[in-house]
Amino acid sequence: MLLALCLFTWGTHQCSAEEAPVRGWTKAEFTGKPLDGLRVALDVGHSRLTLGAISARGRGEFFFNRDSVGVFAEVLERAGARVILINGDGTVTGLAERAILAGKEKADCFISVHHDSVNDKYLRTWTHEGVSRDYADNFRGYSVFASSKNAKAGRSRDLALAVGAALFDSGLKPTLHHNEPIQGENRPLLDERSGVYEFADLVVLKTATMPAILLECGVIIHREDELLARDPAYQDLVGHALVKALSTVFPREQKKKGLLRLFGRD
Ligand SMILES: [Zn+2]
Repeated sequence: MLLALCLFTWGTHQCSAEEAPVRGWTKAEFTGKPLDGLRVALDVGHSRLTLGAISARGRGEFFFNRDSVGVFAEVLERAGARVILINGDGTVTGLAERAILAGKEKADCFISVHHDSVNDKYLRTWTHEGVSRDYADNFRGYSVFASSKNAKAGRSRDLALAVGAALFDSGLKPTLHHNEPIQGENRPLLDERSGVYEFADLVVLKTATMPAILLECGVIIHREDELLARDPAYQDLVGHALVKALSTVFPREQKKKGLLRLFGRD
């Protein structure tokens, strides 16, 4: 849409790079390979058999997770990371199995990618393409989770906070509905501003032997957030925020400098 507008107006005024950010977004651009050699496990949440949440337009969460992970993997690899894809084909149904696969591949960290829904009490119905569907427009935005039961709980928390901060700094807003004091939610916030939660018993996080977080990229039962979550520009923005956060928590240059110092080459 924006591109089409730019092409249409080309010549009448300069369509410059400053116009590229949409909706107040600021992409966390990077130069070089800030994640050089970092082994990042990206887990596609749910499976082809158990789709997870169903969007306002009737699309299974698994497909949102798969598409977003595809974009994140491409961005992370451009930043020098070695991406370990977990459940890329959608056949892994177990939860603990995902962390075990990441461990076998010696992942430095684990990011489980999901898309969100809300408590059933908020559901309404609408008709989309002739089919009656559930939706809820109450809550939208991303959220990040860490487990205090993870083997590297401190680093997991650091990573969750860094991802939350990077998403917030990109111009995105978190959803705080997981903090609502109702059954199924009631998750303590580690940082309210950037939407980071503690969720001790999230199986995929507490079974991981490396720092691990779960990212809900958006609320797909929300009619607008669903469209946003499918927007490649949004996925790219989130991917860049992940690079920024990972490079903060796992700084590569310092490690290299340390090694150089070890060999007397400062
Ligand atoms: Zn999910």
